[in-house]
Formats: sequence, structure tokens, C-alpha cells
Amino acid sequence: MTEEKIIGWKSLSINDLPKPLHQLSGDEIQRRKCISKVMTFVLKYFTKEFVNRGFEWLLPVIFSASTDPLWPDPGASIEKRIEVEIYGKKVRATLSMIVHKIMACSLIHPKLFTLSPNVRIERRDRALTGVHAYEFTQLDFEARNASSSDIRSLVEDLFVGLMKELKKFMRDELVYLDRYSCLQIPNPPFKVLNRVELEEKYGGEWDKQLPLEISEPVWVVNIPREFYDFEDFENNYWDNYDLLLPGYGEVLSGAKREWEYSKIIIKMERDHVRKENYSTLLKLAKEKRIKPSAGAGIGLERLVSWIVGAKHIGETQLFPRVPGIVYEL
Ligand code: ATP
Ligand code: ASP
Ligand code: MG
Repeated sequence: MTEEKIIGWKSLSINDLPKPLHQLSGDEIQRRKCISKVMTFVLKYFTKEFVNRGFEWLLPVIFSASTDPLWPDPGASIEKRIEVEIYGKKVRATLSMIVHKIMACSLIHPKLFTLSPNVRIERRDRALTGVHAYEFTQLDFEARNASSSDIRSLVEDLFVGLMKELKKFMRDELVYLDRYSCLQIPNPPFKVLNRVELEEKYGGEWDKQLPLEISEPVWVVNIPREFYDFEDFENNYWDNYDLLLPGYGEVLSGAKREWEYSKIIIKMERDHVRKENYSTLLKLAKEKRIKPSAGAGIGLERLVSWIVGAKHIGETQLFPRVPGIVYEL
């Protein structure tokens, strides 16, 4: 992709933060209209594609006792967890629907997707990364018995199709946003890079450095994450993957999943994850009712930010959810 502007994980200034809707100028409203059109197009494209490929479309859940632990992933840095009591039980706002996905995929739908609101009260300094919102939507999907490479191929196929259709049907909007010539149709298969080698080359900040040097989307594999991503203990290898976009950074995370009770327990104990929050998942795993699966989640606001060249992810949200800033609406 040529002429790519650097738009992700940069340090913005307070003046770059998105304003509330009622304070936007006429020009800004025009820009937001174009961004909303691109968002609508992206939503239509993905939902149509997943349904046509036999994925069941689930509606999201908001409160559950079980949600993503977001731990010990060093990338996940939240200030607080939203926990409330309803009907005498403690529930948590959805951090991601990973637990629900694994269970639904094992018990009922071999292929499923959902548009899931995630509430992550990110640390307030993340306002200036430009890529973090405290509420966002994941297009989360999962497929029973799929391998990591099945999922990566599916994503590559969807991604190429999306770019082709955007260039064809969203030409006016992309030209208005000065993005038409920047966005090129990538050539699959995308490169697959191992996180260990990236750490040797760039150090711990590989996820910020690498996107500045690539001109096509790339996969990064073998990233230590939460208990639910499959870990090959013998070879010290995590069977997972992030998709990084040029000039931007991570837009998707996914993995093959753990399904065996004995491994899940070892990992929860090792990582100090509260087993009592996952008793149903553990019970099902013990009964061998959790099936092997793989999947991923795409951050929709991030993807659209990259497409439209947003300075801040909040520009893709009509009611911006900027870490540390709470507007009335
Ligand atoms: P990062 O390290 O970039 O903060 P993460 O790895 O902690 O993100 P995941 O738990 O992998 O995030 O979430 C899945 C996807 O959801 C990410 O690939 C990204 O596209 C999106 N996402 C995660 N956190 C945010 C956020 N605060 N705002 C917007 N999108 C997000
Ligand atoms: N959606 C991610 C996945 O499928 C999980 C997450 O949000 O952390 O792996
Ligand atoms: Mg991630």
C-alpha cells in the first residue's frame, strides 16, 4: 500500500481528540457522514459474507458472570472492571464474548459470529494512542474444528473482498476522505511473522514498530495471551495470530482454542485466573463437551479508522468513547 499515512498508536495531542457530535463544524459533519457510510458498508459486507458462508448470527450479551479475563495479556490494560449485582448475583460488563463463543460453538452452532459491544475502561493515557476507545464493537466469530490457517485464509479472503468492494462502491467517500489512492488491494497469503523474531529485532515495542515498516497486512503468530488460546507446552508455541495493518497496527486477534480440561486448569492456575468465574466452561470441559475450535475478533472501529484515515478512533463513533473523557452522550 503506497502513500500510507501513519495513523495508529501515535501520540496525539489533546486537540486531536474527537469532539462530541453537537460541537462539530459543518466540514466535520460532512466528514463524519462519509465515515458513517464506510462503516455501514463494512457492516453490510461482513454480515452478508458470514451469513452466506453458513455462520449463524448471534445477538450480543452485555452482562454475565463469565467474561474475558483480559489477563495476563500485557496488551490489555484496563483501569477498572464494571461489575454490578443483579438479582443477587455479581455480573460483569462484556470485555469480549470469547467464553460465550467457545461454548456456543461447542454446543450448538459449528460456525457463528456476533457484533459484540465490548466495555473496556482503558487506562486514561490511552486517549492519546488514537486506537483505544472505552466502548467498541468486535466482530467476533468462531468455527468448530477449524485450524488457525483455516481462519487466516478466511480473513484474507474477506479482507481482499472488502477492499475490492470498497474501492468499487465507496469511491466518492474514499476520495473525499483522501484515502482512495492509499488503499490498495492486498495480495494473499499475507506474510506470517513469529513474535519471538520480532522481539529480537524490535524489542518489546514490535507491535508499534512493525506497522511502520510494512506495506501489506501481516500476521503475527505465537503471542502469549489468555488461557483460552491454544498453547503447545512441548514446543513453547502459542497457536494464535494478530492481523496488523500497514501504518496502523493490530486490528484482529484470534486463535485456535484450548478445549481440554486438564490444560485449561493448569493455565488458569499458572496465570492466577479466578476459576470460580468460569465454572460452567470448566464443567463442560471436564465432561468433554468443549470442542476444538478457532476464531478471531475484528475491532470494527479500528478497521474503519484505518480505511478512512481517522486521526482518532473516536471519529468512527458518532458518540466517541475516549478513554478518560465522559461526554454526556
Ligand atoms: P491492544 O493491545 O491493541 O490494546 P488487545 O490485544 O488488548 O488490543 P484484544 O483483546 O485482542 O485487544 O481485542 C480484539 C480486538 O478488539 C483487537 O484486535 C482490536 O481490533 C479491538 N480492540 C481491543 N481493544 C480496543 C479498544 N480499547 N478500542 C477499540 N478497539 C479495541
Ligand atoms: N476476540 C478475541 C478472539 O477471538 C478475543 C479477545 O477479544 O480478546 O480471540
Ligand atoms: Mg489482541
